[in-house]
Amino acid sequence: MQYYSLNKIAPNVSFKDAVIKGLAPDKGLYFPEIISPLAKGFYNNINYFSNEEIAFEVIKQFVGNEISETALKEIIKETLNFDFPVVEIEENISTLELFHGPTMAFKDVGARFMARCLSYFNKQEKTAKVTVLVATSGDTGGAVASGFLGVKGVDVVILYPSGKVSNVQEKQLTTLGKNITALEVNGTFDDCQAMVKKAFLDEDLILNKNLTSANSINVARWLPQMFYFFFAYKQLKNKEKDLVFSIPSGNFGNICAGMMAQQLGLPVKQFIASTNANDIVPKYLETDVYTPKPSIQTISNAMDVGDPSNFVRIIEIYKNSISELKKHLSSYSFTDDETREAMKFMKDNSNYIADPHGAVGYLGLKKYLAINNVQGIFLETAHPVKFLDVVEPVINETIKLPTQIKEVIDKEKVSKYISTYNELKQFLLNS
Ligand SMILES: *Cc1c(COP(=O)(O)O)cnc(C)c1O
Repeated sequence: MQYYSLNKIAPNVSFKDAVIKGLAPDKGLYFPEIISPLAKGFYNNINYFSNEEIAFEVIKQFVGNEISETALKEIIKETLNFDFPVVEIEENISTLELFHGPTMAFKDVGARFMARCLSYFNKQEKTAKVTVLVATSGDTGGAVASGFLGVKGVDVVILYPSGKVSNVQEKQLTTLGKNITALEVNGTFDDCQAMVKKAFLDEDLILNKNLTSANSINVARWLPQMFYFFFAYKQLKNKEKDLVFSIPSGNFGNICAGMMAQQLGLPVKQFIASTNANDIVPKYLETDVYTPKPSIQTISNAMDVGDPSNFVRIIEIYKNSISELKKHLSSYSFTDDETREAMKFMKDNSNYIADPHGAVGYLGLKKYLAINNVQGIFLETAHPVKFLDVVEPVINETIKLPTQIKEVIDKEKVSKYISTYNELKQFLLNS
């Protein structure tokens, strides 16, 4: 399997090189050359397959022969060692819980898969040490830190905006030590992202370091997210009724993976991109004009993105046709007040505690169901415990800490405070 750059200048690369590079040398995102739908029999018999078997069928064409079948199966097994339950909320509305992994956010799957791929390539032939450089608005950092902890040949440097991630999130990315360093940036997530982008273009760093990203830009983090949609489909009781997914979206990697699953033949009628006040995509569908904006801070902070990086992949899937895109994608934006109301409504009516991101997904689904007779699943992308300060006052109840959180909450935070790009550069050159 070859990957091409969406900027169409850089040469095509293998899966391995796409994973190690992250971004193409022309700064384009990598995209698979061929997408082959899975056999009918796979869909007809999906109920008989385990999650690991499904994942293997789904991902193997994208990995090609660069990881042996046995090793790929082992990577999948280690990646998916937790549950992905679908829980019914109301008639025609269910949620797919993606928060049962070690950091309790859906990014665990992509981060664990990518870390194991990198580690495999590193073992196979002594590639030079790779530094994974990643900016986080909250959940990426924790998932990447946990996924890469102790992985040989890989150092991880995480930039996060000081004071703008939740306490639990901060603990998850600052308490692990070993090959993980947390840089606390005096600024916003956009500032962190800008520093990371600048580092990838910096000649001194290019010459001296093997930098790669672990954002959903990286194909090894992005593509495993296809699994979720198949796991949800498998659990559907009624596979005849039209199915839509509502995905709380920030960088649009998760929803874009869902669209890839659809390209593989998964029967999905429509995708709903549910966003907070960062409404670039809903505005685009309304006006046909894509206007990135500085991000706005909200209570669903993992979606505070003003220029979603995976949107170019979505455009590619639908061959640059807005009308084709609109046949598959609806998108709505919601305020923090609406999000809180939705959390309260779900608690009062269904006794379900959602996190702010899931609540945005619920709202998008509700809006779509008001005018369409289908069944819908919204993705619950994080456990509510990760956003205690938002969730508890709304539901007026304390949430019991799961073991994954208890393990980090009392550990001591270790971070290095930086304000400028130069401080980042010096840190990378000296480490
Ligand atoms: C990262 C994240 C999102 C957004 O996912 P994208 O793939 O960036 O659209 C939504 N919810 C949570 C909890 C997240 O951590």
